[in-house]
Amino acid sequence: MKGFAMMCIGKTAWINKERPIIGPFDALVEPLALAPCTSDIHTVYSGAIGERTNMILGHEAVGRVVEVGSEVRDFKKGDRVVVPAITPEWRTTAIQEGVPAQHSEGMLTGWKFSNIKDGVFGEFFHVNDADMNLAILPESISLEQGLMMCDMMTTGFHGVEMANVQFGSTVAVIGIGPVGLMAVAGAALRGAGRIFAVGSRPTCVKIAKEYGATDIVNYKQGSIVTQILEATKNHGVDHVIIAGGDNSVLGDAVTMLKPGGVIGNINYFGEGDSLPIPRLAWGCGMAHKYIHSGLCPGGRVRMERMIALVKYGRVDPAKMVTHRLSGLEGVEKGLEMMHSKDADVIKPITII
Ligand code: NAD
Ligand code: ZN
Repeated sequence: MKGFAMMCIGKTAWINKERPIIGPFDALVEPLALAPCTSDIHTVYSGAIGERTNMILGHEAVGRVVEVGSEVRDFKKGDRVVVPAITPEWRTTAIQEGVPAQHSEGMLTGWKFSNIKDGVFGEFFHVNDADMNLAILPESISLEQGLMMCDMMTTGFHGVEMANVQFGSTVAVIGIGPVGLMAVAGAALRGAGRIFAVGSRPTCVKIAKEYGATDIVNYKQGSIVTQILEATKNHGVDHVIIAGGDNSVLGDAVTMLKPGGVIGNINYFGEGDSLPIPRLAWGCGMAHKYIHSGLCPGGRVRMERMIALVKYGRVDPAKMVTHRLSGLEGVEKGLEMMHSKDADVIKPITII
């Protein structure tokens, strides 16, 4: 079968591989729609997770089940499914430690596609533990909506969960690419009062406002800390969700946060050995400024909950789809678009 792969850091190509073989709990799925993620760009071009060779890329897919293993109960050939970017091994004891995305094979290993095994940018892909990881895509939900759930929505919403957004509280979302836009939408759903969206591109700013941003802060027009402190009369914000930016944004987030406030980081820091935290702004380590960080939750129940939010009209993640390509070949162009990131690109997708 054909797939679009990372050959080594900095190099991509189409390759041919054997069709994956499934075990008794697994499923073989063919893609119906695919999207590249900014993390694919970090993986290929910054080598952010280290060297990978001949690995098919991609972890955002909706698809159709082609084959299921003998122990799979709830899915059958022909089912249309949302495939989460994170597919933990649910039958491991480490799962009981409470963080399924980070389990026994080591940190981040719930993230399998395009990290520790071939991803979804192929004619077929392998899904481990199908009953625990797949979710049926209802007829009423479009492929585009389904595709935006498997990573963008679950990640942005996880930033909101980790930042513990409360009714009426003030939130800053740093970075309003697709993940940050979903964080804005999630913060609004959680009942935030004032929501600062930190970004610059008009396409993203427009959607941030539609999703509930009350204030836009342009990081290209001066320090975001100064702008947010001025706007809040030096009080700062209760929660910061970091969904973009370089290694300096963690320090910015700590500085603009009120004592007692919480940072939810979902950003992928792709470079350097350490991240600076400003000592004084962090109260010399004693300011009760909390930093939470994590990988997006995956698995079936999480996807079914994302589906429920869309099905019952709480949010429409498909607003973020700016470019539509066609065929499996479309993933190459989509990845290129994510790499060069022209001002009008939020999320390119390809319909197979
Ligand atoms: P994106 O690149 O489309 O969006 C980030 C935005 O931040 C860009 O528009 C960029 O211009 C902007 N930006 C850059 N510097 C900034 C600054 N100083 N202040 C504010 N904004 C700034 O990326 P995305 O697809 O929205 O993903 C966001 C991050 O989340 C990426 O690092 C991605 O790899 C990561 N990610 C994490 C998970 C997870 O599970 N934790 C999942 C998916 C993506
Ligand atoms: Zn991703």
